[in-house]
Amino acid sequence: MRIARIKSIMLLKRLEISGFKSFAKAVSLEFPTRITAIVGPNGSGKSNIADAIRWVLGEQSFKHLRGKKGEDLIFGGGGDASRSVSRLSKASASLIFNNLPDPARPAGGQQAGKNKAFPVEFDEVAMSRRVYRDGINDYVLNDSQVRLKDIIELLSKVGLGASQHHIIAQGDSDRILYASPKERKSMVEEALGLKIFELKKTEAERKLAATEENVRQVESLRREIAPHLKYLALQTEKMKNASELRKNLDALEKEYVGRELKTLAHEEAEVESRKRPLEERAGILEKEIRESEEGLGKEGEAEKFFAETNKLDEALSSLARRRRELEREAGRMEATSTARAIGDGVSKEKIKAVLMEVVSDLEAASRSGTMEAVRNTIFAATQKIYSFLESLNGVGGRSTPRGNTSQLKEVILGLEKEEEEISAKKLELQKNYEIRAIKLQKEGAFLRGRMEELAKIKDNLRDVYASEEKTGVLKKELEFDFGGILQNARPFGELLSGSARADLKKKIERLRIRLEEAGGVNEEVLKEYDETKKRDEFLDKELKDLQETTKSLKEIFEELEMRVERDFDAGLAKINKLFGEFFREIFGGGKAEIKMSKPQKIEKDEDESWREEIEEEPGLDINVDIPRKRIKSLNMLSGGERALTSIALLFAMSTANPPPFLVLDETDAALDEANSAKYAAMLRELGKKTQLIVITHNRETMKAADVLYGVTMGGDGISKLLSIKFEEAEVVLAKRR
Ligand code: ATP
Repeated sequence: MRIARIKSIMLLKRLEISGFKSFAKAVSLEFPTRITAIVGPNGSGKSNIADAIRWVLGEQSFKHLRGKKGEDLIFGGGGDASRSVSRLSKASASLIFNNLPDPARPAGGQQAGKNKAFPVEFDEVAMSRRVYRDGINDYVLNDSQVRLKDIIELLSKVGLGASQHHIIAQGDSDRILYASPKERKSMVEEALGLKIFELKKTEAERKLAATEENVRQVESLRREIAPHLKYLALQTEKMKNASELRKNLDALEKEYVGRELKTLAHEEAEVESRKRPLEERAGILEKEIRESEEGLGKEGEAEKFFAETNKLDEALSSLARRRRELEREAGRMEATSTARAIGDGVSKEKIKAVLMEVVSDLEAASRSGTMEAVRNTIFAATQKIYSFLESLNGVGGRSTPRGNTSQLKEVILGLEKEEEEISAKKLELQKNYEIRAIKLQKEGAFLRGRMEELAKIKDNLRDVYASEEKTGVLKKELEFDFGGILQNARPFGELLSGSARADLKKKIERLRIRLEEAGGVNEEVLKEYDETKKRDEFLDKELKDLQETTKSLKEIFEELEMRVERDFDAGLAKINKLFGEFFREIFGGGKAEIKMSKPQKIEKDEDESWREEIEEEPGLDINVDIPRKRIKSLNMLSGGERALTSIALLFAMSTANPPPFLVLDETDAALDEANSAKYAAMLRELGKKTQLIVITHNRETMKAADVLYGVTMGGDGISKLLSIKFEEAEVVLAKRR
């Protein structure tokens, strides 16, 4: 903020009062010069003018306005019975400020009003305040009704703070002397225009406290939601894992189903391609086997053959036995006859030849090896012997034995013929049986071959059926396990080997278990997590903003503190120096100083529950050393000395940081003639720095003024204002009601 230091231009232009206190009629005081003096008898209404100025500038204290309520500010009627004036309903006062551009003031920095005292476009600023009997107050700024706040804000721009230290009320000039060090410090700060920074500091502190409270609240809110947020985050993470698992599982299931469908189709085709030729071949073989078996005929063929052969053999041996018996009979009969014949004249050669022939035949027969041949030979030999015996009979001539032998031979021949027939029959039987056996053997081998082949094929078919069944089972399993996705599934990918299938199924199973463990996805939780997280992020941002604000407030506070400290130190040094100078000038020597007090430890009252020592805030101490006097404390000063000391300090403060104007109400009241002259000289000096309105009874002061107003009050109790010359002042002063 810019504090206007009015030096080249005078700010106060005019004061208009109407109905205010004793000023029942409207009066207007122009302030065309640096020093304006208002003079008049006691009780004429001079201080009411200072009150009016104070009031327009927003004074809120009735005590400072010397009243108790708003009504006390309105003319309440006056005069005696003959000149009675009735009370008014409204009081008003206006201060008109000069707001012409000041060439001495640096341009810029203000949006409006450039190098003007008030940052508004108007060349004149009229500030008015009105009060009605009902206590209603209003403020008007250049014809616009405004709030007190606006007035205070605008005034602060020209260094007219709310404390109104630039209006020194009657008897108030030594207030600074008996104020506490802390109050003094505050007054000096005010005079140095630092109060505004103090206020800002307080404001920053208040904001800081509020911000820190907010930080605590936000932190506590964040702490409150933290566990829930953590829980939700965990749940969400789990769900994200689950959805990741689900994605993996879906992909894996899709892969498995695709590949399984392809593999099963492939296996089915393979089974089919193996099965058909095998089944066809098996059919052919079964037919062949059936036929072959039928061709082999009934069982028991061999038994029959052997039974028949045995029967023939038995017939043969019985025939042979009978014949041999007969032959032995015949032999015996022959032998008897031959023995007789040989002796009758048959040559030995003839017998020898026959016997040799028989022997030769028998030998041949023994070599031949077959029963047939042996029998034939025996038969032939028998015949030869019989014929030889016949010849012998002729020679010898016999009668009876010869006839019996022939009959026997007939029977034997018959038997032999019968035997021959049976042998032939047996031979035929054997021959047939052998041919049949060979044929059967061949058929059997064929049948065996077919049967073996059929067995192999059936083995293979069993394999094929097993595969078919396995494929079927797998298909059922697939439908059972993956029914849901089968509808849209198409065969694809690589064929599954047994181990790949097992691996995939194991993986899918594991994922399914993990997914089950992970639990389902709860949209509500996800939403809540999202919201809670956003809230936390918002709070975090809020916290950061607040921390940022705290930081910048602390910076502002520190900056203000530094500035106040720096400006205060510099200002105080200046005031201190001027105080000393004015003091020496007034007292013709001596010493005066205003300086920071040492912090003191003060003890708390015993009644306080917490009895401890605290350090008093530092303030300002005033030390004076009046020439030829030993003054230890301000209390030891005489009334005049007090007045002079306070004037020295007041002038020092006003010179160090001149206010736009200064109203001094009878500050000079206690001065003697010599001091009055010094005072007037100082006043002239101060007048160069600030516009002065002085209410006085003092001639020296009046002399210093450029313009004089006389205030009188007649019997009507109404204050009158007249512009007067110095010479007329005596008259005005002498005037009494
Ligand atoms: P002194 O020189 O003694 O200090 P003064 O000139 O400063 O006197 P003021 O104190 O300004 O005089 O004026 C006081 C006068 O104003 C009194 O006469 C008082 O009756 C009158 N007065 C104050 N308030 C009102 C009011 N509301 N209505 C009418 N008159 C009032």
